[in-house]
Amino acid sequence: MDEETAGTGLATSRYTFRVPLADGYALYHASTGSVLHMQGEDADELTALLSGPRAVIPPGALGPTLTARLRRTGFLVESGFDELAVVRERYWNARGNAPVVLLVTTTMDCNLGCYYCYESRSGDALNVNDVEGLVAVARDRLARQGKRSLHIDWYGGEPLMNLAFMEQASAALQEFCASEGVAYHASVVSNGTRWPDDLAVFVSRHRIRQVQISFDGLQANHDRRRRYRPGYRGPEDTSSFDQALRLVDGLLQHTRVDVRYNADHGNAGDLRGFIELAGRRGWFGAPHRCVLTVAKLSAYSDRSAFLRPHELTPGEFEELQELAKRLLPEKAQDDQDIVQGFPHPKTSVCGALAPDSAVIGADGLEYRCGLQVGEPHRAVGRLPVRRNLPLLHAGPSPAPGEGEWWDAFDPTTLPTCSRCSFLPVCWGGCPKRHLDDSPADIANEGRYWRVNLPAQIAAGFGERAQEGFAFSETDQFRD
Ligand code: SF4
Ligand code: SF4
Repeated sequence: MDEETAGTGLATSRYTFRVPLADGYALYHASTGSVLHMQGEDADELTALLSGPRAVIPPGALGPTLTARLRRTGFLVESGFDELAVVRERYWNARGNAPVVLLVTTTMDCNLGCYYCYESRSGDALNVNDVEGLVAVARDRLARQGKRSLHIDWYGGEPLMNLAFMEQASAALQEFCASEGVAYHASVVSNGTRWPDDLAVFVSRHRIRQVQISFDGLQANHDRRRRYRPGYRGPEDTSSFDQALRLVDGLLQHTRVDVRYNADHGNAGDLRGFIELAGRRGWFGAPHRCVLTVAKLSAYSDRSAFLRPHELTPGEFEELQELAKRLLPEKAQDDQDIVQGFPHPKTSVCGALAPDSAVIGADGLEYRCGLQVGEPHRAVGRLPVRRNLPLLHAGPSPAPGEGEWWDAFDPTTLPTCSRCSFLPVCWGGCPKRHLDDSPADIANEGRYWRVNLPAQIAAGFGERAQEGFAFSETDQFRD
């Protein structure tokens, strides 16, 4: 039996998309990541067949060479083959293989009062008595599957406002990892205003391999939005923008910096000038990589619902991302989902879905997602405390059933996502939006892929998608 006639017959795949190119069509397979460029007189009919509703291909209809090629690349499958099961298996493998990452909220305190900040800025802070508990969490997570690498993400509030804890915890975690022969590295999410002068020593001492610094526009916008809070302003605090700029200049001599540009209606017009400023300061040619990402300020939960009127529409945000793509050098662009020029099926999950990762709140509670910190009803556990000390953080208890929701989350079983042909590249988007039952945000995810996937596929061929071309809901949901 040859390749063409094996099994019970062949059918088109549910994950095939086609994009018109200057000459012919691109075929893209969202589950295998395969791409084909089809030209010639049959290209229109053939690519329409392959990317349309599920169709059975009669034996011999396409010729042996083409059939074999389409099977190899996933565009044709055995009739009755469960393609969803492949995506499901890849998803659960990714969850099991995810690295051990502890996101540690050293404090909820912050010296800046950004208008959009939804965090409580309570007095909660981890302290020296929590160090042992943190090491215990690290030990437990590493032991579960015998993983050999630990990453700590220092988070806040402004994490460097609790430098005493960070210094002690970092030393203890590194000592523990060294004794176990486990690799250790760290990253920091910071507003860029509270760093020590000895950056080289600090980065090296804490094994920091990446820092995220956020900007809210050019100086006037940034300083107005990121004001020093009363009582927190020191003599050196004249401009939070200047401080963050100088910090990025310095950090790029020692480690990677991810610059996050928080965009809304009020500062979208600053993006071009900001990228030009970054270029003049040499960020894109520095010894370490600088990646600039445009993020949309959005309401992630009820606590931040006041942001809704400021949010960019999906179309406005896409225009801004397009501008950044045009202006930024390639190595300054976040390209983690693009492999050899084309969008790649997902193979990793966010930290909230990683069973061996944890988010430690400054309240001593354990969460799954960093955006939940300070919402005790979303907690899934509690930081272990020393046996001989009074019970720390005896506040609200973790919510029953919350951890089980995260453990069970599987986009391949959801009524909408399981029917969606973007599933292999999307995996349902942000799971927290499903937990918060936010259908508008989930619908926006579909819109994102309908507009952006064709652009990404065309870009892989060095072209721009045809003006106004987007996939339809019929392309997205085929059965
Ligand atoms: S649940 Fe959403 S917000 Fe939280 S870590 Fe995952 S992707 Fe990010
Ligand atoms: S695009 Fe929407 S429906 Fe499709 S997988 Fe993503 S979140 Fe689910």
